[in-house]
This record gives sequence, C-alpha cells and structure tokens, in this order.
Amino acid sequence: MRVGVIGGGQLARMMVPPAIALGLDIRVLAEVEGSSAAIAASAVGDYTDAATVLAFAREVDVVTFDHEHVPQDVLAALVAEGIAVHPKPEALAVAQDKLVMRRRLTRIGAPVPDWAEVGSAAELGAFLEDYGGRAVVKTPRGGYDGKGVRVVETADGADDWFAAGGPLLVEELVDFRREVSQVVARRPSGEVRAWPLVETVQKDGVCSEVFAPAPDAGELPAAAAALAVRIAEELDVTGVLAVELFETADGGLSVNELAMRPHNTGHWTIDGAVTSQFEQHLRAVLDLPLGDTSPTAPWSVMINVLGGPEGQTMPERYPVAMADRPEVKLHSYAKSSRPGRKVGHVTAIGEELDDVLARARAAAAFFEG
Ligand code: ADP
Repeated sequence: MRVGVIGGGQLARMMVPPAIALGLDIRVLAEVEGSSAAIAASAVGDYTDAATVLAFAREVDVVTFDHEHVPQDVLAALVAEGIAVHPKPEALAVAQDKLVMRRRLTRIGAPVPDWAEVGSAAELGAFLEDYGGRAVVKTPRGGYDGKGVRVVETADGADDWFAAGGPLLVEELVDFRREVSQVVARRPSGEVRAWPLVETVQKDGVCSEVFAPAPDAGELPAAAAALAVRIAEELDVTGVLAVELFETADGGLSVNELAMRPHNTGHWTIDGAVTSQFEQHLRAVLDLPLGDTSPTAPWSVMINVLGGPEGQTMPERYPVAMADRPEVKLHSYAKSSRPGRKVGHVTAIGEELDDVLARARAAAAFFEG
C-alpha cells in the first residue's frame, strides 16, 4: 500500500512513523531539499505543476496532503487519470477558500459568526456600522497561523488587501469564552471516529497550547462531535478533518475554520491517544478500518515550540531538557529556529491537569529559552 503525500512539512513528517509501524510505503513530494519530511521525500518539485504532481502520483495508490494549497486544476488532472485523491478536490475546495467555506457552512446550517463578502472599503464600512465599529477581516486564500487575519475598526483598514485584488471575508468579532477544536476522521466508505474535544490557546494568532480533553466542558463535547461528524458527512471529507470552534459567551458553538488534514490541535494524540491522528489519516485515506480514538491518560497537554534561540534546532537542547524532563515527549520538526517559527512541540500526559500543564510548560521553556 503506497501513500503519496504532497507537501514536505511537519504534518507529512509525522505521518512517517505510523507508516513505518504499519509497513506502508509512504512517499512525499516536497517543495525543497531538506524539508521537514525529507526522510520520506521521494521527489522534490512544484506542487502547482500538473506534470510534476502526475509523475509523483502515478507511482502511489492514494494521494493525500500536508497542506491545502494544491490548485484545483492539478487535482482535476489526477482525478482524470483515475488516481485516488483523499480528501477529494470538491471537499478540499471548501478548505482552500474562507469565503467558500463560510458559504458552504451557512448552507448546511452549521453555526458560524455573522459574515459578509466585501469588495470595497465602502462595503467594509457598512459592515462595521452594523457591528459596532469592529470586525475581523480575512483574506480568503493563502492565510495561515493568523497571517491574513486582522481586526479592523475603520473602513480603510483593509485597503492594502483590497489593492492586492479580490473580495475579502469580513465577520463579527466573536466574544468567545474560549477556542476549542474537534478533530475527526472519516474513511471513503463512511466510517467516522472522533477524538475528545480539546481546548486551544492562541498566541498572536498561532496555536500555543492544547488541553485534551477540554476542561469543564459539560455538554459541549457531544455537540462538537455531532457537528464535526455532520460537516465531514455533508462535505464528503475523507481523512482527518479539524473543526476549529469558538465557545461563545452563551455557551454555544460557532465554527471558525476547517482543515482537511492532520492539525496542530491533534498533535497530542501521538502520545495521548490509542490511535494518533497521523496513523488515522493513513488508515482513512487507504479506506482501512479506523483505530480507537480513546485517550490513554486522563489529561494530555501539547505545547508548540515557537521560536527559540536563532538558528538552533531542538536537538541542540536535548541534553538539558531530557535530563530535567524525562517523562515529557519531545517532537522536533528538523527546522532551525527563528522568531515565532513553529519548530516542534512537546506533550505531557498524566492524572492531574495542573501537574501535566506545569511539566509541559517547563519542557517547552528549555527550547524557547
Ligand atoms: P488562520 O487561518 O490564519 O489560522 P483563523 O481564521 O483561524 O486564521 O484565525 C486565527 C485566530 O484569530 C483564531 O484562532 C482566533 O483567535 C482569531 N479569530 C479569527 N476569527 C475571529 C472572529 N470572527 N472573532 C474573534 N476572533 C477571531
């Protein structure tokens, strides 16, 4: 069973250990030499070039992704040749464009923040007037980790983005209690499994800490799982789907974003669940029976390593970090540090949330130093 992953980032990298364990042949089409997933990179090339992607895809049984940026015409070329692609291009289209995503979620009746498509400063101004003078503007494509997301208070607050072309998404500034994330996996023949709902903490628009399960969540997990399963089914998502959610001031849920691939808010599953999201993604895209998503400990805390001493990699700090925190699991993405860059993560699991959180933070601090 040969799985081809387009994109050589850390998500492709983290699919490699479960592929080895299961005896799957995993191959990666990386953008550059020395990518995070270089260990499995069988090809280096441009994922926007149909000939490059086709040549890679003809040698595997299923194509999947490390990111959502493969253009639709390239995906169509794969499908036209009868190559299995998961998630399918029609599903991926929804994750590729935040306006398409808002439209589809609205159509299926999923709760989302109030939103509008705006093509000019005047239209943005009108939205601001209706929503108390503050709103969140987003570029429909190409944003990640908070890039392409901006709070505006004046009609000219997104002029640079309008000048770059195309309409923008504007939405109400949600007064959320907290952010949570529901990760599920679905296989082509229909089986779906959900991991526990997690709480996520963002720093400057970037995921910083994840608590699994979301503490003091009451009825929220059941509602979030049902919502994510419904979205996966309505959009015919195959593989892992992450649904980033706001817990609103009234205790309800509102969908912020969808990702159709393993997601940062699911990294804790490598060390804290029976089946990790990376193994599950491989099972799902191969249409194999899905694994148990139960947690293996009452609490897991995942903390991203963001930045750290310029030019260093995590392993340079291992002698001190490992000596101090032998129980914390360390994950390096083989990237050298620069300010704010996601270079790895750490996960602690255990019986008491306060203790697990303290241990994870202590380990992360060695690397962010
Ligand atoms: P990206 O695609 O870059 O991850 P998101 O759309 O997920 O961007 O937004 C990044 C962060 O910005 C969110 O995690 C949340 O903290 C904040 N955010 C996004 N949309 C809203 C909103 N409508 N109201 C309040 N905060 C928001």
